[in-house]
Amino acid sequence: MYALHKLRGMGLTVQVFETGDGVGGTWYWNRYPGARVDVKSMEYNLPFDPDLDQDWEWTEKYPPQEELRRYLDHVADRLDLRRDIRLTTRVTEAVYAEPAQRWLVRTNRGDEVTAQYVIMATGCLSAAKLPEVPGLESYTGRWYHTGHWPEEPVDFAGKRVGVVGTGSSGVHVIPLIAQQAAALTVFQRTPNFVVPANNHPIDPEHQRSVKADYVRFRQANRESAFGTAFPPATRSALDVSDEERTAYFARNWHSPDNHPAGLLVGYTDMITNKEANDTVAQYVRDRIADIVDDPAVAAALQPVDHPFGTKRPCVGTDYYETYNLPHVSLVDVRTTPIAEITPSGIRTSEQEYALDTIVFATGFDAMTGALSRIDIRGRGGMALGEKWADGPRTYLGIAVAGFPNLFTITGPGSPSVLSNMAVSIEQHVEWVADALVALRERGASTIEATVEAEDAWTQHVDEVSRMTLYPTADSYYLGANVPGKPRVFLPYAGGVGLYRKTCDEVAANDYHGFALG
Ligand code: NAP
Repeated sequence: MYALHKLRGMGLTVQVFETGDGVGGTWYWNRYPGARVDVKSMEYNLPFDPDLDQDWEWTEKYPPQEELRRYLDHVADRLDLRRDIRLTTRVTEAVYAEPAQRWLVRTNRGDEVTAQYVIMATGCLSAAKLPEVPGLESYTGRWYHTGHWPEEPVDFAGKRVGVVGTGSSGVHVIPLIAQQAAALTVFQRTPNFVVPANNHPIDPEHQRSVKADYVRFRQANRESAFGTAFPPATRSALDVSDEERTAYFARNWHSPDNHPAGLLVGYTDMITNKEANDTVAQYVRDRIADIVDDPAVAAALQPVDHPFGTKRPCVGTDYYETYNLPHVSLVDVRTTPIAEITPSGIRTSEQEYALDTIVFATGFDAMTGALSRIDIRGRGGMALGEKWADGPRTYLGIAVAGFPNLFTITGPGSPSVLSNMAVSIEQHVEWVADALVALRERGASTIEATVEAEDAWTQHVDEVSRMTLYPTADSYYLGANVPGKPRVFLPYAGGVGLYRKTCDEVAANDYHGFALG
């Protein structure tokens, strides 16, 4: 939506294709009960309209899906975006025609358009993934994926419900389903670290003070590591006493103003030093043991196989407390894997669970999934899928050698899922827009990453990830949740602020690493 607004403002003709029946992307599709963003509302919004900044009133610390969708609908109307958005239309093919130097884009509705530039704003977490277990077609109950939730409310009252998956989506939906269902069985493969949301109505004084200084507030986020500004850490977690560290964690855990990344950013080495990270991981495990009554259930909920923050920490409301309810049970499908979906429920290696409804909170083919579902062909008919067979290769996560004039917003190799997405999207859209202005000023018509620049960046992304603990977790950051997906660390772990500087330097340095033609 920002790209449309921005490029239209530059006098370009823009056509947006959108699979959904409405705008909003993530916030259009993820309508499951309890869905809300885990970035604070004042930081998670579109930054390009100062009047909108002042006019829109956020209601909660972490806005719920309905509010975000209302906001995005409002933006579409306010900026008159809808006239250039073709809804209910999936792009199936994008082919670069070399002599004409134009992209030919085809859709599932028979559209065929040509374009000088193609911007893939297809999302990092938009290709929903079901578990690879047989039998779903035989299931006679109702089933849903959190990332494709229906518009009409789903009634769980009196039902035996199973939820598969305990990532952010599972953590959100489980307490809400537990409020309605007669019985809830959670099928957990890997326990996650869940930090209390401490959500609350937004303090009007806080909202007023941010709005009074929005320019500075946003700039601080842009220059930060995760797209959310925190005071800079100065000491290792291992250089302070146990009491001091625990007090710091406790303030973050209990504060109404807390943030999941708050537990990571207080010390310099939480994401680079396992021993430092162990301190916060143990703090969270201790809280789980405090909250959950049954010690065996508490133990099953305690993450032990990955450091804190190496999978995106989940933000929960009454998540661990839900397991104290008598009608909620936890099945560890790491020790007793799901063998099949049967006509009446889920059968693990140990027993069958009869279920009226199954909710799959099983995540996404992250970062590359949406792109790989489109047949994208660059120079010489080269398929992007083939080029990326061993893992994505990009320059800055925004361009691909052999695919001129194609841009990937928050693509693999950019901070993307390791950041406040609103900040990363803004930066990419503005960088692309500036590049198009630069082309126009030079009378050039193509921009293409060089193979050398792409190789160097791909290596850099890998090297930076190895300086952290991230690759030690079997996460979607590494493609580990999709069988057969190459194990490559997908986002750029160097931080939003540093990454922005690098992109700006590339532009200032005559688009170093790009061939302009
Ligand atoms: P996810 O983090 O990938 O979690 C998927 C869950 O399903 C994991 O627990 C996974 O277990 C489990 N799973 C997958 N296949 C399975 C199988 N065959 N059998 C058993 N369990 C299986 O996906 P998500 O929860 O949808 O979240 C994805 C991302 O979306 C988040 O990290 C976040 O960035 C974003 N998100 C954000 C919010 C928010 O802002 N509040 C809310 C929702 C989502 P394993 O861990 O063992 O693979």
